[in-house]
Amino acid sequence: MKKIIIGNWKLNPTTLARALQIQSRIHHFVKKSRRAFVILAPPFPFLHPLVIKAKGLHIAAQNSFWEATGAYTGEVSPAILRSINVRYVIIGHSERREYMRETDAQINKKVKTALKSGLTVILCIGEKSRDEENFQKIVKNQLFSDIKGVAKTYAHKIIIAYEPVWAIGTGKTVHPADLYEMAMYIRRALFDVFGKKAAHSIPVLYGGSVHSKNAGDFLAVDGVDGLLVGGASLDPKEFGKIIEIAAKS
Ligand code: PEP
Repeated sequence: MKKIIIGNWKLNPTTLARALQIQSRIHHFVKKSRRAFVILAPPFPFLHPLVIKAKGLHIAAQNSFWEATGAYTGEVSPAILRSINVRYVIIGHSERREYMRETDAQINKKVKTALKSGLTVILCIGEKSRDEENFQKIVKNQLFSDIKGVAKTYAHKIIIAYEPVWAIGTGKTVHPADLYEMAMYIRRALFDVFGKKAAHSIPVLYGGSVHSKNAGDFLAVDGVDGLLVGGASLDPKEFGKIIEIAAKS
């Protein structure tokens, strides 16, 4: 399986011109490193222009709503995303859980609607702190709540991004040995939900302060199928190096 590298641009950059420029520079690396599967997640208004120029790159939205249509001012539905050829959506990012107060129940509804609409869901889960004794269980409960009621026929449309909240944008990262343990724990939880056969192909990614100097360490961990990169994905050179490392992993 090709390693999956996702760039989450969050609320950046501030202009379409800059977004297209970053994409074009990243594209240069994608052309050279065909053995990595690269997804960029720009802000909503940049989705369509980036889809048009995707050329071997894939484009994800950073969020989608749980209804397909209706009186929900400010929301964007999976159906709208599909209509502009967006195939992926990030759901449950910790920043949305924290700042927009998204709950697991809402995330579960979003996951189901997105899957039913044909999107592939990149579901973010992760503990706030490792000091909590039962942090593994917290992650498992989050996962179970977020995918509750999802039929196993959708398993092939799910990507899990394990993103410990304490590692996002902080410069702190998980130790590879701890990442291995968590990746295995998440995979076992997925087996419990979907059964071994269906869950086997669900990629489990790591996210949290990834850059070109530590990407190789995480990608070398058994059971880690790729990376979700925030800050470093806005620097085409840095992100390009990560793509090259992934292509060789
Ligand atoms: C993220 O946005 O999900 C993320 C992991 O950010 P960063 O790489 O900046 O920690």
